[in-house]
Amino acid sequence: MKSHLQGTLKKEAVFEGVGIHTGQPCKVVVRGAEENHGRVFAASDGGRVPARVDSVVKCDRCTILGSGDSVVYTPEHLLSAMAALGIDNALIEMSGPEVPILDGSAATFYSALKQAGVQVQKSPAPVVRPEKPFSVMGDQGQSVHVVPWSEEHYEYVLYYDHPMLGCQTVEFSPQEGDYALEIAPARTFALWEEVKPLLERGLAQGGTVDNALVVYQDKFSSPLTVEREPVRHKCLDLIGDFALLDARIQAKVLAIRAGHKLHVDCATAVWKDVRVCERA
Ligand SMILES: [Zn+2]
Repeated sequence: MKSHLQGTLKKEAVFEGVGIHTGQPCKVVVRGAEENHGRVFAASDGGRVPARVDSVVKCDRCTILGSGDSVVYTPEHLLSAMAALGIDNALIEMSGPEVPILDGSAATFYSALKQAGVQVQKSPAPVVRPEKPFSVMGDQGQSVHVVPWSEEHYEYVLYYDHPMLGCQTVEFSPQEGDYALEIAPARTFALWEEVKPLLERGLAQGGTVDNALVVYQDKFSSPLTVEREPVRHKCLDLIGDFALLDARIQAKVLAIRAGHKLHVDCATAVWKDVRVCERA
C-alpha cells in the first residue's frame, strides 16, 4: 500500500528500448527529486516537460506531452507504474522522443522502479477530491466518468464487436488491489486489421509481436499474461493518464470504451474545476 506522503526514488532507474510509435531508440533515466517537484521529463533537446494535463499536445493512440519545441511520446505506461508506486517526484531524462515500449506492459517499469526503492518524503501527497461528478462523452458512445468516492478507484469497460474480445470489465483499487499482479503485466494490444493502416500512417513503427498483443479473428499472437489482458491494459492506460493530474485522485474513475483522448479530456475537466491540491 502506498503512503499518503509524497514519494520519490532512492536511486536512479534506467530503461532502454525503442518507442512503439516512432520506432526511435531511447534511454530513460528516472532520478529522485525533492518534494513538490512533480514528475518532470527532461526531453532529449534539453527542455523540461511536466507530466501534467496542461502539457498534453495531442493524443493519437498514445498520449503526447510537449512544452515549447520539446516533445515526449507515450509517457503513460511509465507514469502508470510511478503513480501505482507513489512516486510523485522525479526527473525523467530522455535521450530520444519516446518512452520505450519494452514488452508493451508496465511490468518492467514497475519492478525496476520498485527495486530502485521508493523514498517516502515528509509532506502529504497532493490529493484532488472532486465534489461533483464529471463526464465526458465521445461521438461513438465512449465515455469517462469521475464520481466522488471515499478512495481512489478505477473501473474500465471494454467492448469490441470481435470474437476474441467482446465485453470485458475490470475494477482496480490501489489501496486493496495488487498493481504488480492485476495491472502491470497487461500489454498493449492492437487488432490485426488495425496494424497495417497504422504502419501506413507512420504510427507503430516500433510495434512488433514482441511488444504488443496482436488480436486476430481467432487467436492472440502470444499467450495472455493475465486473464482479460486487453481490458487490464486499458485500465493501466487510464491510471497513467490520470497521473497527469499531478496529484492523487480520491474518486471513482469509470471509463467505457474510451481511449487516451477521452481520458485526458476528463482529467482536464477535473483539473480545471478542482485544482484544490494540498500542495502550496
Ligand atoms: Zn497503453
